[in-house]
Parts: sequence; C-alpha cells; structure tokens
Amino acid sequence: LVARMREFGTTVFAEMTALAVRTGSINLGQGFPDTDGPEAMLERAVAAIRGGFNQYPPGPGLPELRQAVAEHRKEHYGLVYDPDGEVLVTLGATEALAASVLALCEAGDEVVVFEPYYDSYAAAISLAGAVRRPVTLRPVEGRFTFDPDELRAAVGPRTRAVLVNSPHNPTGTVFTLDELTAIAAVCQEHDLVAISDEVYEHLTFDGVEHIPLATLPGMRERTVMISSAGKTFSVTGWKTGWICAPAELTGAAQTVKQFLTFTANAPWQLAVAYALREELGWVAGLRDALATKRDRLMAGLSAAGFGVYRPAGTYFVQTDIRPLGFTDGLDLARRLPELAGVVAIPTQVFYDNQERGRHFVRFAFCKKDEIIDEAVARLSRLQ
Ligand code: PMP
Ligand code: GLN
Repeated sequence: LVARMREFGTTVFAEMTALAVRTGSINLGQGFPDTDGPEAMLERAVAAIRGGFNQYPPGPGLPELRQAVAEHRKEHYGLVYDPDGEVLVTLGATEALAASVLALCEAGDEVVVFEPYYDSYAAAISLAGAVRRPVTLRPVEGRFTFDPDELRAAVGPRTRAVLVNSPHNPTGTVFTLDELTAIAAVCQEHDLVAISDEVYEHLTFDGVEHIPLATLPGMRERTVMISSAGKTFSVTGWKTGWICAPAELTGAAQTVKQFLTFTANAPWQLAVAYALREELGWVAGLRDALATKRDRLMAGLSAAGFGVYRPAGTYFVQTDIRPLGFTDGLDLARRLPELAGVVAIPTQVFYDNQERGRHFVRFAFCKKDEIIDEAVARLSRLQ
C-alpha cells in the first residue's frame, strides 16, 4: 500500500458492521435505514432492468436524471444548473467527493475540513497528495459549531478548497446562514473552491431548513454542490449521486470520474430521476418519521446515562460517554457488543486532533422503533 494511504486501513464503518454481524449485536453504527425507499421508485428500477436499461449510460449520466436534478435544484433552492455541462452523475456522493478533490487539488495543496469529518474526505485528500487543515467543531450550548477565527487561521497560501458538510455527519449540526456566510467570506477572500457535501439536505428537523452554500451571494460560481439518493430515498446501496457546479468545475470532476468509473449504474438513474420528480412527499414523511425516531433515541440514551447532543438533521445522535464513567470512545465501541449487545461509531476517528473527540460516540436512529427500543434497553445496562 502506498505510504499516503497507510493511515487509512479498514474504515470504521466496515469494522463496526463486521463486529455487529459477528456478535449478533444491534447495529446503530453504520448509517443505513432498515426500511426501503418508496415502492414506486423500487418498481421503476425493476422496470428499468426489465426494459433493457442495462448497458453503459452516457459518461455524465442519463439525461433524464441530469434534468431531474437540475429541476430539483431550481424548484427547491432557486439554483439554476444546465443539465448539459453543469450536472454530473456519480457513483454516490463518495465518488463525487473523490473526483472533485482529485480534479481540483495539486499535490501539496491544502484543503480545509471541519472535524469530526466524514472519513472519505481525509482519504480523498490524501489520494490527491493534498494536505488537510482541520477546523474543530465544538459544542456550544449543546450544538456543534466552529470559531470563525479558527477557520480564517486554517487558510494559508497553499489552500485550494474548503470541504463543507451540512447537515453534518456525525454531529447533526445544520449550518446557519451566519456560519455559511463566514465560510463564504473566507472562500471569496482567498479565492477558494467550496466542495459542499449535502447528502442529508432533506433530513432536517424542528423546522430547521438546509441552506445550500451555493445560494449565498458569490458562491454559486465557486461551489461544487454534492448530493446523492442514498439518504433522501433510503437506498444507500444504490450509490447514485451527483455534482452540480459551474461548467469548468463539473468538467474537471468529469475528467477524473471518466477514469475512476467512466459512468454510473443505469437502472438506478432512471428510478432516482422518477423519485426526484414524484416522491418528495414521501421524503417529507421520512423526515417526520426520523424526527420522532431521533427523539426516541435521544430520550433513551439520556435515560441510559449518556450525554446527548440534539441533532438538527442527519441520521445520527452524537453522545458524550464521560457521564457513564468511560473516557475512550474507540475502546468503548469495541467493547460495546460484549457490554450491551449494541454497536456504535466512535467519532474520534474522524478527528485529526483525536484527543478532542475521544469521549464522543455516535448512534444512528434510522431504524425501526422496536430496534431503537431494544438497543436502548440494552444500553441501560451500562449504568
Ligand atoms: N457524505 C456524508 C456526510 C455521508 O454521511 C455519506 C454516507 N452516506 C456520504 C457522503 C456517502 O454517500 P454515498 O453513499 O452516496 O456515496
Ligand atoms: N454514511 C454512513 C455513515 O456515516 C455510512 C458510510 C459507509 O459505510 N462508508 O455511517
């Protein structure tokens, strides 16, 4: 393995899901729902396969999906993207992120990331030979946020991009207009590209609305907006994602994407195009159901003795394990199957400054109510 990838090994998601399977534990680690997406969308995928959509689609994606993505952006956010040249279909958000970083960063360039960060960011940056510059999100009155001075201090002459994720995995923070404005100001002052991971764009709660970074003044022209169908339509295994960005940035990502995978899976593209047009009502129902599940898991974890942070979006509750007398999240996560028959994700692995995240553990609530209840009952043994 090349030196620049040696720190990565096996992802924490693979490790923890394997642990759950091996020990028969309830898996509140890896974020995937245990119910399927809208029935008619599933039928569309089957019909696409039966209907012969089984060969290479065009490299940038099927026109039906690019058109549906562009319409969705316009209707929801007032953002206009040309489906021919400003929309690129990818194999999930993961490929979109990797292709963007590989296309935009020279070896030695720096990329600002907010830690804890989704693990593929660090790997994509290392693959490009670039260097990450973390800005730490810290809890302030129960909500994870950053200090704008730390953000400004993280930018230097070699900084090329800022990688933003809102709604944020794993903290559940949805950046406010003020926070996004601070990020936008830094991008414009230093002529940086913003790579904006918005895969949880529809999964926000309590009336909090997701604001795409590209909607801020002067940001559309410098933002690579990334999303995917996995979270919106409960099909994480479909790995269908997309980039929306000005033609120059989309073209750069496409040049790289061509040689990673050339194109993305044909049948899912047709089904997702249908869902973006016709199933946003279903998504509204999912969002309400997830908000209730969040409350259920938060109440249970709190009663079980965890310190609990209230997420405004995503699938995840971030907890503090110190009230239970534990100090190391990775150690606890590895012992949790034996202690309680539950699997979770230690969020310290998403920090460069691991000490700052050592006492945090993430639990997923995108699960059936009875699974959440059973997990909570088991976790109450920890006290
Ligand atoms: N970004 C974030 C913040 C995520 O949580 C995930 C995991 N689903 C991804 C990207 C990857 O998305 P996809 O499965 O579409 O590649
Ligand atoms: N995005 C999901 C999570 O954060 C799963 C990611 C993965 O398995 N790579 O849990």
